[in-house]
Amino acid sequence: MIKEQIMMLGANGAMTIDYVDYDFGEDVPQSYSVLRAPFDEWFAGQAEAQGAMLAPGILVDELIEADGKIVGIKAGDDEIYATVVIAADGVNSFIAQKAGLRNDIDAHSVGVGAKEVIELPEQVIEDRFNLNGNEGAARVLVGCGGGVLGGGFLYTNKSSISLGVVLNPDDLACHGKSIHEIMQDLKMHPAIYPLVKDGITVEYGAHLVPEVGYHAVPKTLYRDGLIVVGDAAGMVVNTGISDLDLTPTMKLYANFHELMSNRRMVSVYPNMANEMMKVLFAVDGKLPERMDKAMLKVLKKHVTFGQMLADGWRGFKAI
Ligand SMILES: Cc1cc2nc3c(=O)[nH]c(=O)nc-3n(C[C@H](O)[C@H](O)[C@H](O)COP(=O)(O)OP(=O)(O)OC[C@H]3O[C@@H](n4cnc5c(N)ncnc54)[C@H](O)[C@@H]3O)c2cc1C
Repeated sequence: MIKEQIMMLGANGAMTIDYVDYDFGEDVPQSYSVLRAPFDEWFAGQAEAQGAMLAPGILVDELIEADGKIVGIKAGDDEIYATVVIAADGVNSFIAQKAGLRNDIDAHSVGVGAKEVIELPEQVIEDRFNLNGNEGAARVLVGCGGGVLGGGFLYTNKSSISLGVVLNPDDLACHGKSIHEIMQDLKMHPAIYPLVKDGITVEYGAHLVPEVGYHAVPKTLYRDGLIVVGDAAGMVVNTGISDLDLTPTMKLYANFHELMSNRRMVSVYPNMANEMMKVLFAVDGKLPERMDKAMLKVLKKHVTFGQMLADGWRGFKAI
């Protein structure tokens, strides 16, 4: 990704911070996008080549325990025994629950995500995002959830664009809109539509994702004969910029979710930023107001100084 962007969506406009660094095209550490469907197939092949046997489509019902040790799993009438059972069964891991390592999830600790992969010719993507060859662009979307707590993302792949939202399920339920409707509204937003138009949706997925980062990681992640990994272990911190699955990084960003659970972040500030840009750039033939006064007027319309200071401090502490 040579372009890392933050886009604040207003009702009928958008303000984008666009950081482009062509050093990212060289041999320096950078972010990149990976399409899970082909990656998972390749990865499964690698595991098989090392002697693993894949058994997809089998539901694990129970753990088998002997003398306080987990020794295998039950799937229907089948029993499979193992030296170690690795629970990688996702965010609402019933295996970790059955093993007594964590409780059921609650609506505050997860986000509900929806993502579309929209296919477009390579050249069209390069033209729309001003990219060349292997270059890519990644964009965090703020103010894209119709007022629901959460955010969105858009990034380019070689011949597709991934577009999605991750929202707070509790807040979503209170707003009376489905995540599908919010995705649809996002695709039709005048600042997003030109980027995805004429594309073909080749994948549509919805998934829960751990949202509270380090604080949601169970105190113990193992028992004799069992280890919990991945989302089952809560090992994600959703920064919006890139989802990070590394425990030390999780500690650093342990309070990041508090920033994103501030309602003003999803509605007030994106609208305020857009209104300020409008005041700055609108040409209406009238004598313009002094810029500092005009900006102050917009600011006061949306927030108090107290709120802004408090949010700034919370934001500073969260990162
Ligand atoms: C919209 C969205 C965008 C995201 N974007 C990114 C990103 O850009 N970068 C990033 O790093 N992460 C991202 N994530 C997070 C990422 O998807 C997860 O962290 C990752 O998929 C977790 O992998 P996992 O194997 O632990 O769990 P999962 O991918 O949830 O896999 C768990 C598997 O276990 C299976 N399973 C569950 N119960 C049972 C059972 N009883 N028996 C048998 N099988 C069972 C499920 O069917 C599933 O296949 C995103 C998440 C969402 C929702």
